[in-house]
Amino acid sequence: MSDPAKPARYDVVIVGAGFSGLYMLHKTRALGLTARVIEAGDGVGGTWHWNRYPGARVDIESQEYSYSFSPELDEEWVWSERYASQPELLAYLNHVADRFDLRRDIDLETTVTAAVYDEAARRWTVTTDRGETLSARFCVMATGCLSIPKDIDIPGADTFAGPTYHTGRWPKEGVDFTGQRVAVIGTGSSAIQSIPMIAEQAARLTVFQRTPNFSVPAHNRAPDPAVVEDWRANREAYRQEAKTSGFGIRYVNATEQLALETPPEERRKNYEERWSYGGFALIGAYADLLADKAANQTAAEFVSDKIRGIVKDPKIAEKLVPKTYPIATKRLCVDTGYYATFNRDNVTLVDLKEEPIETITPTGVKTAAGEYEVDAIVFAIGFDAMTGALNRIDIKGRGGVALKDKWAAGPRTYLGLMVAGFPNLFIVTGPGSPSVLANMAVAIEQHVDWIAGCIGYLSERQMGAIEATEAAENDWVAHVNEVGETTLFPLANSWYVGANVPGKPRVFMPYIGGLGVYREKCDEVAAKGYEGFRLESAAA
Ligand SMILES: Cc1cc2nc3c(=O)[nH]c(=O)nc-3n(C[C@H](O)[C@H](O)[C@H](O)COP(=O)(O)OP(=O)(O)OC[C@H]3O[C@@H](n4cnc5c(N)ncnc54)[C@H](O)[C@@H]3O)c2cc1C
Repeated sequence: MSDPAKPARYDVVIVGAGFSGLYMLHKTRALGLTARVIEAGDGVGGTWHWNRYPGARVDIESQEYSYSFSPELDEEWVWSERYASQPELLAYLNHVADRFDLRRDIDLETTVTAAVYDEAARRWTVTTDRGETLSARFCVMATGCLSIPKDIDIPGADTFAGPTYHTGRWPKEGVDFTGQRVAVIGTGSSAIQSIPMIAEQAARLTVFQRTPNFSVPAHNRAPDPAVVEDWRANREAYRQEAKTSGFGIRYVNATEQLALETPPEERRKNYEERWSYGGFALIGAYADLLADKAANQTAAEFVSDKIRGIVKDPKIAEKLVPKTYPIATKRLCVDTGYYATFNRDNVTLVDLKEEPIETITPTGVKTAAGEYEVDAIVFAIGFDAMTGALNRIDIKGRGGVALKDKWAAGPRTYLGLMVAGFPNLFIVTGPGSPSVLANMAVAIEQHVDWIAGCIGYLSERQMGAIEATEAAENDWVAHVNEVGETTLFPLANSWYVGANVPGKPRVFMPYIGGLGVYREKCDEVAAKGYEGFRLESAAA
């Protein structure tokens, strides 16, 4: 909660206290600047504070999905699972908040409603839902790419008599489904993680699927001591490898080999090895998987056959096999027992392509084929990704222009970091940066380091403001689109292109040029005195 004794003027106001906001605060303090963090939740941790649904866990190996900035932190924190679960990730982020004494500058349960740039003063005025007004030279939006759960837009949802849950806003006290008939609506990543857990507890689980997703096994377990030891011995080199890699993940072990130039037998063996390894390793198998339809088809067929092999009822298996988009062009899911769950007697799959939902009733879910009576409904319907949190804040830049209006046809940024017309406003993992296509821990650190470097540069020189130029922004947006078009990503109706939110403009939002390449570009821009940005002296 906000403290009336705290001052109202800061060098930096940071919105959000997840992975990004916590590190941004730490870096800002290291510059000797004053900062305040405003967080809507009643705890720190962002994603890992809100997403407490059963089965929630990271899908990148724990040691890779963590901060690299402090070797001491790295050394002292020991992960208990290969893929850490939500409680452990939340404990980690709370540990970071304590270890670096961050809490005293964080206001919880406070939502930023507006941020308006005062051109004359070159300061941001930030307003909260508690009626507070803060003034800051710099405003950093660490608001998250996946922090705003999608609205429930199914007719009749508010008439349901039993409890409903959204995976992205799961109750802290947990939910006991024992003996209940449960509906899960959605089959994205959160559903794929939670369905096996809910199926074990509920009397009956009915899964309503609109579009099937590809999922690969995590093979989660206690960390292999040899891997832990190897990581410890080579941590610096491995971190560096991840930072310069395409996806910010070291273990994907990506090759330059092409699927279509590999004999089918050898290809199958490679996929098989990577399937056994688990996680995203499969996607690193060949360099053309995300660029060439025929190459992609080889991986899609491999996974489709796996689904057919796991799911005993061939009709159910066919419903679970995605057929309308290339593999990994919708977020590839990583699961623990997802497909096998459909072999259970207490689990039913409803294919909404065959029988669309007509309405939710007080007692269940009514499709074109009939009513499914349930005691509880879980909405695993995803997020208003990448722009949702930013568009919910009334952000006004130069000339009172609203960011929402500027982005009406889709987000426009320079490097995903800044927006022309919005001086001194930074976005962590904004649209136009690798963000959700990378290990976000690595993407976040890169952005926060860059932003802190930029703020430090301006502060040292007593500069008043930095702003992306229209020309640089236009060039970057064109580049992001051009690179996106060379891949298969635009072929899928995914949240990467805003397809999951009715009315949202169809734009491929993240940058797929690779995290390592992108980092070089950002570093080069900074080394050239912030090329593509207009810098204003304090006196101007
Ligand atoms: C279920 C789930 C699983 C994921 N798994 C992975 C994974 O395996 N690997 C991976 O790399 N990434 C994963 N991600 C992405 C994940 O979001 C990032 O890895 C990372 O946690 C993002 O950190 P962040 O601080 O940028 O954003 P968040 O963690 O989303 O934090 C943003 C914070 O800003 C706050 N906020 C937003 N708007 C306002 C406002 N107006 N006022 C005040 N506060 C506000 C929110 O309440 C939130 O706490 C996952 C995301 C989800 C939802």
